[in-house]
Amino acid sequence: MERPNAWKNYKKTELKKVEALAEAYKDFLNNGKTERECVAYTVEKLEKAGYISLDKAVAEGKKLKAGDKVYLNQMNKAVLAFHLGKKPLEDGMNIVGAHIDSPRIDLKQNPFYEDTDYALADTHYYGGIKKYQWVARPLSLHGVVVRKDGSIVNICIGEKESDPVVGISDLLIHLSQEQSAKKLSEAITGENLDIMLAGKPLAGEEKEPVKAMLLKILKDEYQIEEEDMLSAEIEAVPAEKARDFGLDRSMIMGYGHDDRSCAFAELDALLKIGSVPEYTCCGMLVDKEEIGSVGATGMQANYLENAVAEILNLMGRYSGLALRRVLKNSRMLSCDVSAGFDPLYASAFEKKNAAFLGRGVCYNKFTGRGGKSGSNDANAEFIGKIRKIMDDNKVCWQTAELGRVDLGGGGTIAYICALYGMEVIDSGVAVLNMHAPMEIISKADLYEAAKAYNAFMLNA
Ligand code: MN
Ligand code: MN
Repeated sequence: MERPNAWKNYKKTELKKVEALAEAYKDFLNNGKTERECVAYTVEKLEKAGYISLDKAVAEGKKLKAGDKVYLNQMNKAVLAFHLGKKPLEDGMNIVGAHIDSPRIDLKQNPFYEDTDYALADTHYYGGIKKYQWVARPLSLHGVVVRKDGSIVNICIGEKESDPVVGISDLLIHLSQEQSAKKLSEAITGENLDIMLAGKPLAGEEKEPVKAMLLKILKDEYQIEEEDMLSAEIEAVPAEKARDFGLDRSMIMGYGHDDRSCAFAELDALLKIGSVPEYTCCGMLVDKEEIGSVGATGMQANYLENAVAEILNLMGRYSGLALRRVLKNSRMLSCDVSAGFDPLYASAFEKKNAAFLGRGVCYNKFTGRGGKSGSNDANAEFIGKIRKIMDDNKVCWQTAELGRVDLGGGGTIAYICALYGMEVIDSGVAVLNMHAPMEIISKADLYEAAKAYNAFMLNA
């Protein structure tokens, strides 16, 4: 039952493909450090590949048919892409869905203050983080500031070599006796994650001169006022670039493998589909998974359903029943990363059912907590079908479970899509250091995931 290591079977030509995909992926990671940046990157690729905006198609009343490609941009934070197939849409779609939000540190709406000659920003972290990992490291600032007149300023500071970086300070070891005696989860509090932004007073300014310096920079360089932060979304993320990890360069260390490794594999798989697939293929890159898939850009919002309704309408076959049939008859891979086995923390795993870096794309029958609580728990019949598709297409794959039974757990978007009555299983890339600022994956697993997702879309 032990699954083979993917690297063992690669010949020269395939090794080249593994490397090429890894290079393209690093570019995706470096240009997509936020959900908004991932959407911009994805939309550009989709349009280059002939996808047209669904909103535009609707506005123009454009008729859609097999072979057509449309995408929905949901508030610049999520994208759905549809490549219409030969079979009636009511026969269901082959859906591959991943999320593009990652754990990070968000600025609060009233962020700036001055304390003892520093200007700082209050923050509120996003997603599950081990707070101690986010201090004393270079962070970059990404996001948008929306002025009252509706104009938008895009912010990206700390990515260019010549840019400054920002960050969160930590107490020196020499004075850390009290801090070090605390529980790991309590040594650094949420309120302690404030980001240091400036340290020089503005000449001639009496009251809060360092904060005044910060505001002057924002005014001079970005034409924004302090009040504009009320309608801003600024995310602090690791400033480092993704790079090869290990002396053999077999892995990649970077920010946001969860879940951009799956999102990238999905996009690659989608763009490699030929002219007209049998069944309609749908790729979903969604937001807010890390905080429960809530909000208008999370999977719990109805934009998949709404987009399919619009597509059915433009195909001249909309009815409430047809819409239900499309969704109920669909098949889906909920693509999200798996916990890679770590020999330094072996006791957190049950080795026979753990995911291993390098052993290919993972399939998780269930996720959840305790007694599988909150899990999707895929049907055996569907898993049988997946096994055949993977083996027929020579995909290296493994099954996985998220750690030891009674230890923690997690969820994905699988259970939400399953509400339509479609077949769904979790699938993804194994990750080390999950949710740390810099996570690690194997290049082989990324390659096998892209292969798997393409095979699924063409054969499920
Ligand atoms: Mn995830
Ligand atoms: Mn996650």
